[in-house]
Amino acid sequence: MSQKEITRVKKTIRNFLDPSIKFPSEFEILFKRWALLNSFYNTYSDAYFPNLGGDCKKVLNFGREFSSIFTKIEEDKIKVLIEPECVGKGKNDSKPDKYVKEATKQLRVELSLSNGCENCRPEKKIRCDNLLDVAYLFDPFEALMRIIYQIRCNLFHGDKLVFEGNQYERNLRLIKASNLILATVLNEISK
Ligand SMILES: [Zn+2]
Repeated sequence: MSQKEITRVKKTIRNFLDPSIKFPSEFEILFKRWALLNSFYNTYSDAYFPNLGGDCKKVLNFGREFSSIFTKIEEDKIKVLIEPECVGKGKNDSKPDKYVKEATKQLRVELSLSNGCENCRPEKKIRCDNLLDVAYLFDPFEALMRIIYQIRCNLFHGDKLVFEGNQYERNLRLIKASNLILATVLNEISK
């Protein structure tokens, strides 16, 4: 972790401790649900896949191992995350992570939606189009988990712009849909 990232994480912590900043309740719900999921995929990875590496790898592995959960999730919740545009890495018009774009692309095909980034805002579409393709075949649930992991990462950046900027309504929609999906996931894994 670089010094810059450590500074960013400290800022996130300060923002969330600051009583004058009121984060929407949906944000708190995502934190709680992700923490519960995190305890599961960490324990699962430690038990069966001890050499996976970082957090994101554990999430992807979880998605592959529990692929059948995908059928339990309502399509309209998934569509919120992949329509109309790719989830960016960071705020506003930031380009997506190339794996998030690939995961989004593959899920669009899975759900018979338009294949490309035609619906991404013009300024974002340019950034999407400039991303190099990655040769990686996601399991559909793995792809979905990769996208929600990105939303969680963006939220953990904890910048006020996440809920005060011009993308607030969209961010809230993404977070609400993620919360509903996570509720299904948590329910399934705890049976
Ligand atoms: Zn896009």
